[in-house]
Amino acid sequence: MTSTVVTDVRPWGGPLSDVVLADGLITGIHPAGTESIDASTETVSGRGRILLPSFADVHVHLDSTRIGLPFRPHTGVPGVWGMMLNDRDNWRHAERSMEHRVATTLESAIARGTTQVRTYAQVDVDADLERLDAVLAAREANLDRCEVEIIAFPQAGLLREAGSIDVLDRAMARGADVVGGIDPCALDRDPVRHLDAVFGIAERHGAPVDIHLHEPDQMAKFSAELIVERTRALDMRGRVTISHGYGLGRLPEAELRALLEQFRDLGISMATVAPQAPLPTHLLDEYGIALGLGQDGQRDYWSPYGNTDMLDRTWQLAFTNGFRRDDDIEHCVAIATVGGRAVMGRAAMPARGAERPGVGVGDPADLLLVAGDTVTAAVMDRPADRTVIFHGDVVADALELTDGSRA
Ligand SMILES: [Zn+2]
Repeated sequence: MTSTVVTDVRPWGGPLSDVVLADGLITGIHPAGTESIDASTETVSGRGRILLPSFADVHVHLDSTRIGLPFRPHTGVPGVWGMMLNDRDNWRHAERSMEHRVATTLESAIARGTTQVRTYAQVDVDADLERLDAVLAAREANLDRCEVEIIAFPQAGLLREAGSIDVLDRAMARGADVVGGIDPCALDRDPVRHLDAVFGIAERHGAPVDIHLHEPDQMAKFSAELIVERTRALDMRGRVTISHGYGLGRLPEAELRALLEQFRDLGISMATVAPQAPLPTHLLDEYGIALGLGQDGQRDYWSPYGNTDMLDRTWQLAFTNGFRRDDDIEHCVAIATVGGRAVMGRAAMPARGAERPGVGVGDPADLLLVAGDTVTAAVMDRPADRTVIFHGDVVADALELTDGSRA
């Protein structure tokens, strides 16, 4: 068994340690300098840096990106339908191909510390499966650096344009992993038909579900209740995610608590992109709801924000929540790392104050080394001195992929 020792690192900013990796897992943690290292052992020099689980970006539109391209003036109009039409007018005419843009964006995220990705690929009667194919190609090209799950995403709804449901079904047959849905009331104006189509396709393909919910409080609650009903009826415990869902955060507390109780019972998870009006992070923690973080679209036809750096987005999560305490900011790091893995069904959601999640013996050797006095300092400073490890191998260093390809 070949092993690698990461020397002189501080797990979650704790005592200086040597961490042994073998077969894609952490197999030992010893006080620094006590692990015997022979000539055949590979070493990664920690240089006193902090050791964290690597990031899991669980809400990213890899096919909606202009990362690496010149900035252009924003031409969108407010509202999902208007923004979707703006994207539809422009996405085919970018300076580089969709395939190139998806790969560049994914590789830039990996170089900055992300090794788990749950990405959308827009499927509709305009794009058909063209955007999905670009995401499938980028996944294939990066199998040695990152795990990618793909959500077939009906950005234009399912009921407004004939043929939309068929495209979504074909996307699942083509290789997408998760069935997406969006604003069942506000966009398609027929939440029962929308959600029955989404959950019907999920049942047929044995796939999880992820619903974009931008709806306001009571409307979001109504959609969430229909999602709860279908999750229960199809016994999809732990396989349904509500993305955004910020309208739920505006509900009266008693109504929100009643909903969160059902989310807990059915293992319904949430994903956020850390908007100005944050989800009630502490309340989700109280109910043990799995919560992950994501970049959303990046420098695209919807928004000029986003830079593929999940450490930046972690800062934004802490900032929008108004957090100052170290345990709160460390919980934001836990959300951005192990929380995302929990949304993907690969880990348990760590509670706030949990003992250094994701870097224990038996945890995956998917890790980030980052400079900083403390974890909070690393979130505030977001240093470039990082090393990214995937399945026990170094895949990026100092924000560059180690095999020299672009990022
Ligand atoms: Zn989104």
